[in-house]
Amino acid sequence: MATTNAQTTGPVSGLPLNEGARYHFDIYAILEAPQELYFGSEVAVNVNMVETVEVMLPNGSVIEKCYIAPSKRRGVERRTLIWAPLANGTLLGDALGCGIPGTCCRPDCPMCSVYGGLVTSKTKVTYVQGGSLYEEELEPTTYLGRLTHGGGVAVQAQEVSTKQRAMHPSKMLKQGEDNPTPFRRQYNQPALLYPVYNHCLSITDAQFNAIAYAFLNVLPRIGAGNPKGVRVANGDLLGTAQSLLVVDRYRVPLGARPVVSPAITNQTEAIDSFAAQAVQVRGAQRQSPVTGVDQKGDVIEEHRESSVFTRWIGAAAMKELEERALSFTTNVLLAGTNPRERS
Ligand SMILES: [Zn+2]
Repeated sequence: MATTNAQTTGPVSGLPLNEGARYHFDIYAILEAPQELYFGSEVAVNVNMVETVEVMLPNGSVIEKCYIAPSKRRGVERRTLIWAPLANGTLLGDALGCGIPGTCCRPDCPMCSVYGGLVTSKTKVTYVQGGSLYEEELEPTTYLGRLTHGGGVAVQAQEVSTKQRAMHPSKMLKQGEDNPTPFRRQYNQPALLYPVYNHCLSITDAQFNAIAYAFLNVLPRIGAGNPKGVRVANGDLLGTAQSLLVVDRYRVPLGARPVVSPAITNQTEAIDSFAAQAVQVRGAQRQSPVTGVDQKGDVIEEHRESSVFTRWIGAAAMKELEERALSFTTNVLLAGTNPRERS
């Protein structure tokens, strides 16, 4: 039976009523490291160890592979947004009063609205506005993330390398004292390929713009310590060498998922597998860098607002992410007012 308007509790999901049209978004990519990388796992007998996984091959043998854990990518992405500079030099996280730990859980926060957040009890938070500090008390809040990360298992089964390092832990210049502290550190070898995936559930175009900004900004910054950085690898898509990258915006998943099996250890086989799935939409191979499906289910070679599925691949996918990252920069970071005032 219909009742009067619910005034107090809001929608069952807890999300804001007027967030706008929501879609699902996916990013599929193969990343390549141009140098060694360190992703800390644990310290054993004076060796800083990298995180690895064990993979069983079809023949039953088990091999060890290097790994960029999805949780690590997620953390770097979130920090990239928290530390993104606004027009006046204030960092986005400082303007919102949102950090790690200490998520703000504001529905209009570009980080918490997609990555999620947690305020365990009433907490005072400090934020920056107009060069001054202000305080606000946050209510206990749970905000579930709508962005999930996957993949990260390297294609090649190359063993980690171990190198001797030395550090002066407390001084920039240390003379006439003890010898520097030596330690050994494992590294993922250069040229490893890492298939990775980001998936967004029911978010707006504006929220995905922040995800695009974070995904692109993470590339030169991923890895603990130094050196850092990966790029989106190049490979053959539609007969041209271009970024091994796929972006989907959809209501219904109508494209094959370009997910590379961790059991594959050959680079060419991995790239071919990714490329073959990237062009599969509605069960057939497509020849266009942009493939859409309209509400009747017909395939179109363009993106329309009303489409139930759009896939960008290769250079077109990179362009789409760049345009969206640019929109986030213009509309949020350089808009001239504190993001807290724009909701
Ligand atoms: Zn937040």
